[in-house]
Amino acid sequence: MIEVQDVSKKYGDFTALHSIDLKIKTGEFIAVLGPSGCGKTTLLKLLAGFMGPTTGNIVMDGTLMATAKRVTPPEKRNIGMVFQSFALWPHMTVADHIKFPLDHHPNRKKESKAELQSRINDVLGLVGLDAFAARYPSELSGGQKQRVALARAIAPLPNLLLMDEPFSALDVELRMEMRKEIQKLHRETGASIVFVTHDQSEALAIADKIVVMNDGRIEQIAPPEIIYTRPETPFVATFVGKCNLIKGQWKKEGFVPEIDPGSIWPDLGVARSFKADGIYPVRPEQLQLSPAKKNGLHGRVTFVQYQGHEIHYTVEVAGGTWTVHEPVYLPRFQAGDAVEVSLKAGAGQERDFLSAAR
Ligand code: ATP
Repeated sequence: MIEVQDVSKKYGDFTALHSIDLKIKTGEFIAVLGPSGCGKTTLLKLLAGFMGPTTGNIVMDGTLMATAKRVTPPEKRNIGMVFQSFALWPHMTVADHIKFPLDHHPNRKKESKAELQSRINDVLGLVGLDAFAARYPSELSGGQKQRVALARAIAPLPNLLLMDEPFSALDVELRMEMRKEIQKLHRETGASIVFVTHDQSEALAIADKIVVMNDGRIEQIAPPEIIYTRPETPFVATFVGKCNLIKGQWKKEGFVPEIDPGSIWPDLGVARSFKADGIYPVRPEQLQLSPAKKNGLHGRVTFVQYQGHEIHYTVEVAGGTWTVHEPVYLPRFQAGDAVEVSLKAGAGQERDFLSAAR
């Protein structure tokens, strides 16, 4: 268990982290998600022990690891690290990359040559590099290099694996492949993982829990499904997936949109958790279009974008622009069409699943 307790970090006069509180359970896979400059790497460096907090404590498995006055350095913590740049050693083979941290790890146990070789083989197998043990980095593809970096980090069986945008240098296909690799590694090693990314789909896909950061603060900590369906702030709603922030008023019976005071939209489950007054966060796939009738909320389609699996509409309504995603099999609208926008019947059906998940 790792506890970040009321941690702030200043660089000179600039505060990069404001009173962060975070608990990471043993074996948990945490994604730290946020825009550039929000403090993700700063948090990771504090967890690694590269620097200490300006205020607050970091406790790992009951031991105080860092305060403003004293920091346990990275080599005295049982952690593994993987960064965006692979930083492999050009003169070492793949097998050497795994052997080196085993030889130099502070918690190293005395092992016979045969035991050591068998551990190296296990790690090679885990990252799918059995056939590449004797190769040098210059003889590997980008994905294989990243696997070596992973293997090097996990070889000493760290309790905590810290990863800073580890796949951002890889192309899209490889990135998808590496996401599965890391899920497999997590399953098989049981290590806690803190994975920094600015890619929301990556965070949603792989993490047990997402920490959404903005401007040096944590906006929300929750499992991916909760982050997506029950965002607590406008920032979380719009940073993770697309979201329409619809103005109006919550009443007992539901939400009355400002631009259609005659209608009442049912709560799809966000009313209690969303912390901004007078805003209903509605996902594009929770809205639907129909031909404009005399009454109801009218808009005009301004853009139509075909996406293969759905159609993305941009709709101008009085005082706002909304996005609506519809399945391809529904009747299509054209730019210029007058349309009625309403909540899709059946939107929010994930509620049953969510209550089971919680
Ligand atoms: P990115 O996704 O771009 O890597 P990040 O979320 O990881 O960003 P950090 O690297 O943690 O962001 O930086 C947070 C803020 O602290 C930024 O505004 C950055 O400019 C500032 N910062 C980081 N390191 C230092 C430093 N050594 N001195 C001064 N300011 C710094």
